[in-house]
Amino acid sequence: MPEKNQVCTAEITALTSEGSGVCRVDGMAVFVPETAVGDVCEIKIVKVLKSYAYGIVEKIITPSADRIENTCPVYKKCGGCLLRHISYEAECRTKNGIVRDAFERIGGLSPEFDTFLGAEDTEHYRNKAQYPVANIDGKAVCGFFAPRSHRLVPVTDCALQPKMFRDILDTVIAYINEKKISAYDEASNTGIVRHIYIRRGAHSGEIMVCIVVRKDISRQLSALCRQLSEKFSGIKSIIMNINDRKTNVILGDKCVTLWGNDTISDVMCGNTVEISPLSFYQVNTVQAERLYGKALEYASPKGDEVIADLYCGAGTIGLSMAKQAKKIVGVEIIPQAVENAKRNAQRNNINTADFYCGDAGEVFGKLRKKGCAPDIIVVDPPRKGCSAETIDVIAEAAPKKIVMISCNPATAARDTKLLSEKGYNVEKICGVDLFPRTGHVECVVLMSRKVI
Ligand code: SAH
Repeated sequence: MPEKNQVCTAEITALTSEGSGVCRVDGMAVFVPETAVGDVCEIKIVKVLKSYAYGIVEKIITPSADRIENTCPVYKKCGGCLLRHISYEAECRTKNGIVRDAFERIGGLSPEFDTFLGAEDTEHYRNKAQYPVANIDGKAVCGFFAPRSHRLVPVTDCALQPKMFRDILDTVIAYINEKKISAYDEASNTGIVRHIYIRRGAHSGEIMVCIVVRKDISRQLSALCRQLSEKFSGIKSIIMNINDRKTNVILGDKCVTLWGNDTISDVMCGNTVEISPLSFYQVNTVQAERLYGKALEYASPKGDEVIADLYCGAGTIGLSMAKQAKKIVGVEIIPQAVENAKRNAQRNNINTADFYCGDAGEVFGKLRKKGCAPDIIVVDPPRKGCSAETIDVIAEAAPKKIVMISCNPATAARDTKLLSEKGYNVEKICGVDLFPRTGHVECVVLMSRKVI
């Protein structure tokens, strides 16, 4: 077993989804951040636990062929881009391996794996950013929190965000400082401005700026609205979100439109979609369209099917399938997203889609009792995956096909395994990279009902 402070030489043989390299020292797995597969390094052991240990690199003896020069000035400080030190080709290889590994090891499954869908754009691809604001040396600044901390690292030109976000942030921060509006202080729950949150429709170019504050300061923000709307023609909506709770959750429940519209519009898979500040909307539009395209390919409706879209958000997936289906039934827990979904159906002249608000399993269970019998169920749960009740209700509904979309291969593998024990064959899985340079990876799973 390795010991704390021991220095040894080892070769990195794998990368985890947290971006840590893995090597073996005295038979134990050691996680070493900021390394790449193939690196031979001198490692210092910093922490030893029961079945694994953590190390840091003292010296790279032979660098991996995957390594590239990292050009981001805050790469090590902000913790967002865990894979910026390896080539994008190596990143896709790693992420494909993470997806495979989850389904084969956690799921104990051996499905066919489709070709991994890497992204063409690995920079500036995001359509959403939420920057915390803090006081540093008496001035409001914004940036990102350092990993596992609430220490602000000032950044306004993140390489993943649209370049113009920086100019918007600079304008807002300059205004806050000029008007002496204080930044929020987490420790004492005092101060005003908590976050600056920006969204931009990738196809439409429409921008929403949302200022998250501890208490209503709409009057003090009116001149800012004028400045922003005059300076940036893309801005269509300026919102103040009020969050007075002492919490890590960024947004409060109350939104006040200060200028322009309550929502912005974008185009997703050919449909116009309306997005509220509180609605979920995939952050990488181009790759989300490829993901939904893969989901449609897996679902392959012929035109006469009823499709349930569980965890439907603003309805984007179900609506992208509506033309090929008889009926769409969506369920989502956030009321504003359900409102968006209903309006999105109307705006695109889709009158075959119904959306319901509530817990996916609970609401779908009730709909089923009333006779809703989908041929295909699409599920797209948050990171924690589906609840056991939701899995049961889906299996009881016995659709011909289930298409699961997930941003967490580990919980997707767990849920897929449960469904495989309840009468489903796991046919195909495809990894899709919606989050280049970060440790996150999305996947789509096709399951079909076993013929008994
Ligand atoms: N399918 C949508 C949203 C996916 S994200 C899209 O691709 O845009 C997951 C969604 O599940 C979020 O909109 C979230 O609000 C919703 N959600 C979270 N827990 C839920 C639950 N218990 N029941 C229903 N929806 C839930």
